[in-house]
Amino acid sequence: MRADRDIIIIGAGAAGLTAAQYAARANLNTLLLEELAPGGQCLIIDNLENYPGFPEPLPGIELSEKFEEQARRFGAELQINSVHTVTKKGKLFTVDTDDGELTSPAVIVATGAQHRKLGIPGEEDFSGRGVSYCATCDGPFFKGKRMLVAGGGDAACDEAMFLSKLSDQVIMVHRRDRFRAQRALAERTLKNPNIEVRWNTEAKVIRGDAKVEEVVLFRNDKDETYSEKVDAVFVFIGSIPQTQVVKDLGPELDEAGYIVTNQRMETNVPGLYAVGDVRATPFRQLVVAAGEGAIASHTASQYIDELRGEAYD
Ligand code: NAP
Repeated sequence: MRADRDIIIIGAGAAGLTAAQYAARANLNTLLLEELAPGGQCLIIDNLENYPGFPEPLPGIELSEKFEEQARRFGAELQINSVHTVTKKGKLFTVDTDDGELTSPAVIVATGAQHRKLGIPGEEDFSGRGVSYCATCDGPFFKGKRMLVAGGGDAACDEAMFLSKLSDQVIMVHRRDRFRAQRALAERTLKNPNIEVRWNTEAKVIRGDAKVEEVVLFRNDKDETYSEKVDAVFVFIGSIPQTQVVKDLGPELDEAGYIVTNQRMETNVPGLYAVGDVRATPFRQLVVAAGEGAIASHTASQYIDELRGEAYD
């Protein structure tokens, strides 16, 4: 059976672009499909200061351009082309796109996850101007400042703990009267003197001028509304993994809907790999995503070598 490509990578964020670079460098006929613009989460980072090898802060878009240039230099092809579904027949996947069907024996899913939003007035307007979805990325800009964290899961607690190293004025608001986070993490958060937890409290409006200045809070057990001066609002209320295109293949998902892989980035579907934010992983960072992309392409190239000449040409 003839395949159009050795490998198709879906999603051109840090994970997909790195996977494309490694696959192309391993001499695989590599196609990277992206529905919007390459870069993924990189594109929304104003100043990236924790990517190893770049000691001076650089705009995320510059890093993503470098990723892309490097992938192309080794021969990966990037197409702006939406993927609808991926199906599998025998050993070959069929990737159904806006431009028709493409086949390959290996597919890497690097479609990422979207941060769940509060959906309140001001959230979108102040995104990047005090509203953030990543404490590691943006927390250092608010060192010593008053910061609000919304959420009550592992991510909210983890990120509030990170912010508490930068400021002693971290206010955490959660809509219920107990955390969803794992007990040990929840207890550490509650004991942290730099974090003030406000239960039964919801953020309703984010206000400011050029940047965030205050947030309107609603105490839902007392029906009270008040405003609080803050310099930043960090939102960690879960994320939505973008698994739609591969759902028909039935990859194993964790409770939160992320794709489960082993440490070689293999899913339970032979030839299907998942990397970056769509994968069940404990630490969602660009550097982690890039590393996972490299591992997946390495694993996939071994798998393809085994199939070549047997299941496809
Ligand atoms: P999560 O576990 O789904 O928790 C989301 C939190 O946000 C919940 O407390 C939820 O409140 C709240 N929430 C949801 N929608 C809201 C809304 N519209 N307004 C206000 N609050 C809202 O999400 P996560 O914390 O991002 O974690 C996702 C997955 O990654 C989990 O499996 C988690 O275990 C894992 N993770 C693990 C670690 C770690 O192990 N250190 C760190 C980060 C993430 P309710 O509680 O009322 O539903």
